[in-house]
Amino acid sequence: MSVTPLSTVVLDHRFARELPEMATGWQAEPAPGARLLVLDEALAAELGLDATWLRSPDGVGLLVGTTVPAGAVPVAQAYSGHQFGGFSPRLGDGRALLLGELIDADGRLRDLHLKGSGRTPFARGGDGLAVVGPMLREYVVSNAMHALGIPTTRSLAVVATGRTVLRETPLPGAVLARVAGSHLRVGSFQYARATGDVDLLRRLADHAISRHYPGVAEAEQPYLALFEAVVGAQASLVARWMLVGFVHGVMNTDNMTISGETIDYGPCAFMEAFDPATVYSSIDHGGRYAYGNQPVVAEWNLARLAEAILPLLHNDEEQAVALAVQALGGFRGQYDAAWSAGMRAKLGLSGVVDQTVVSPLVEEMLVLLQAAHVDHTSFFRTLAVAGRGDAGPVRRLFADVVKVDDWVMRWRALGPDPDAMDRVNPLYIPRNHLVEEALSAATDGDLDPFERLLTAVAAPYDERPGLGRYAAAAPADSGPYRTFCGT
Ligand code: AMP
Ligand code: MG
Repeated sequence: MSVTPLSTVVLDHRFARELPEMATGWQAEPAPGARLLVLDEALAAELGLDATWLRSPDGVGLLVGTTVPAGAVPVAQAYSGHQFGGFSPRLGDGRALLLGELIDADGRLRDLHLKGSGRTPFARGGDGLAVVGPMLREYVVSNAMHALGIPTTRSLAVVATGRTVLRETPLPGAVLARVAGSHLRVGSFQYARATGDVDLLRRLADHAISRHYPGVAEAEQPYLALFEAVVGAQASLVARWMLVGFVHGVMNTDNMTISGETIDYGPCAFMEAFDPATVYSSIDHGGRYAYGNQPVVAEWNLARLAEAILPLLHNDEEQAVALAVQALGGFRGQYDAAWSAGMRAKLGLSGVVDQTVVSPLVEEMLVLLQAAHVDHTSFFRTLAVAGRGDAGPVRRLFADVVKVDDWVMRWRALGPDPDAMDRVNPLYIPRNHLVEEALSAATDGDLDPFERLLTAVAAPYDERPGLGRYAAAAPADSGPYRTFCGT
């Protein structure tokens, strides 16, 4: 048995060193009865951390931040953010800590970060804590996203702290250990800009370039190229969300990364019946972050990033604005291209190049799905079955089959590839009723349903016996689904 003693865990503190104005040295609160609930052993291996050691008292201590290697500099990161459109100049890690950065097996720098580790100077009215249910939700949904091939922060572990946390009722506390390319957010740039310190803003941009887009350092205008790179990464990311029906739920600018990784799984959910107006978050009364609004919101957030970095784009503000507007203008085209290519793949039509045939067919399909409240995920898998010759399952999703039959006939005439469809259309996603079932059992101490759900979504495309209920839509009597923020 190989054991990694704490002293061999090397945590750098590059963020804190290069951007001290945005890092407040801080410590995690004690976890009196720390108990490891779940550990991603494959991710641990990627990070060069020994899973057996992580399960030991010292290892669990690292995962809740109470035992850190010598020389580590845990910090709460400062950031600002537009929340539901309103600007908050000082948000920051109110209940989180960046423990430091690790070099992974591929030589990449990865943040090791904790959520729920106690109040920090950014906590405002919050208690700095997190509870088992929402941390396991982030764990399972980020796992599902990763398995779907969608860029995301990762979840290394969830540890129950043994503390009771007061929400609407007393709940068991937990800490999530999260891993990310970085935790640089649009809101980080807004924070640096709001200080008025252009040197800080430049150092932040240089830090982001070196960590995420080293190639742009060679560009004629590196900061403009950085912005263009973020625009491209977010256009691609949000297209991926849309293609699997992922609703982030709280796309505030502090919850949008520079790296293009999905971050901060709060009130997120996967859409069931296809409808652009789908909202699950209990606090999103206006539908600002509805499924269908996500591309527009991403573009809006990127405009806030552009505003933040204007002083780096040109000395003359008018020219800086012109450059930013032009770069942001690329978002729609890149988003549309990514989404269209993805949709062609979902329909098994990647080989059909004639967009004038495919585009109207896609438009018609979306109208049919919405009108009949068809389960988004089930549709594409049953469509592949129709591609193999059995239209029964897809027909059963629609009450009125006349239009569907006509549509399927024209789609089949294009020669779709059903096997290719099954490689991009998930069968198993973290369906809302299954997530709730798993989290509520876990909160009561039974992790079995959670483990089973995790097993299903970890291989989303591979049909396996015994997992039928993980592929099925919610029972009709489930009622409308609601998710909650900041829990
Ligand atoms: P979120 O909605 O999770 O992205 O969080 C928005 C802001 O609220 C961030 O600055 C968080 O650190 C902070 N926050 C959320 N929950 C808590 C909490 N329980 N205690 C302290 N700060 C919190
Ligand atoms: Mg957040």
